[in-house]
Amino acid sequence: MVTVPVGAAERLEPAPWAQQATAGGDRHYPEPAPSFRGEFQRDRDRIVHSAAFRRLVYKTQVFVNHEGDLYRTRLTHSLEVAQIARTVACALRLNEALTEAICLAHDLGHTPFGHAGQHALNRCMRPWGGFEHNLQSLRVVDYLEQRYAEFPGLNLCHATREGILKRCPPRLAADMGRLGERFLRGTQPGLEAQLANLADEVAYNNHDVDDGLRAGLLDPEQMGKVPLFRDHYQRVREAWPALDERRSIHETVRRMIGELVDDLIETSAQRLRAEAPASPEAVRAMREPLIGFSPPVARRHMALKRFLRRNLYRHERVHRMARESRRIVSELFAVLHEDPRLMPAEFAEAAAMADTAEDYARVVADYIAGMTDRYAIAEHQRLFQL
Ligand code: MG
Repeated sequence: MVTVPVGAAERLEPAPWAQQATAGGDRHYPEPAPSFRGEFQRDRDRIVHSAAFRRLVYKTQVFVNHEGDLYRTRLTHSLEVAQIARTVACALRLNEALTEAICLAHDLGHTPFGHAGQHALNRCMRPWGGFEHNLQSLRVVDYLEQRYAEFPGLNLCHATREGILKRCPPRLAADMGRLGERFLRGTQPGLEAQLANLADEVAYNNHDVDDGLRAGLLDPEQMGKVPLFRDHYQRVREAWPALDERRSIHETVRRMIGELVDDLIETSAQRLRAEAPASPEAVRAMREPLIGFSPPVARRHMALKRFLRRNLYRHERVHRMARESRRIVSELFAVLHEDPRLMPAEFAEAAAMADTAEDYARVVADYIAGMTDRYAIAEHQRLFQL
């Protein structure tokens, strides 16, 4: 039985460790408070209304978008991360709206073609500071979305931006002011950010199992090497021997997520009770995160991760697709970097106005990173197969 500080229920008083919105939301450009929403609800709504969010529907996680309509895309992934995290946020009395906003924005900076696209773009950008999708997510919400009359970007609250920036190399952190401090000091972000990070892992590991099995890249027998899968699969098989394979797998994945989420809540609740941080600032001063799995469940989760890395992400079919994706991204970068007038007017103009070689290359990277899988493929065809 799960025992959390006050039990999982909605509309509970937030705990002292939950992030509260400050008046005005601590935004870079001051704005009047929203009339009928909280500050973090406003952030969430701005993220959902952004062009980058809509484009997630045609961006890949592991499988290329045109391989089938049943696979996860970055959009469905982001929704799944948000719903997992909201359950945990309620149970631990964290700020649910902030948690949701961070989750929905966490993948906005992803290139087309998932990690293959990110690697290719990073390699192209190596002479000019590289490319990292997590930093790009922040760049999307801070600069690239041009929608509001009074400010560039979405002008999100500081706590939302803190949650979006999961990683940051020290050389960049030094220039990022308040947002970069924790990477230099080795301290933690708020609990909502810690939670979004783990909900992301729970979502993609389990859903990659589901998609990998559906695609025939994994099979249940081979998955028997993974205790987290095997234990639940055996129990489902024993309880419903006549159940068809698809439903058995779905029931298994559902239970795997359940085990991880329950453990995440129970373990984090114990740590919160033990440490009893008096404020979000007390959480931020800590060296270790408070949101986390118990050691045995962390090991089970890690074994699943390792298995997927070896057997799914390096599968010959995924590898072949990744190779093709890298080629498309690299060739697009080369041709657009050489002739920026091939880009849409706003990017061509930005490239023409760039003061440095870094800024110039960054415009090309911004343009390519914003592409969906199918747009990148079409654009590549247009430029190379005349
Ligand atoms: Mg993600």
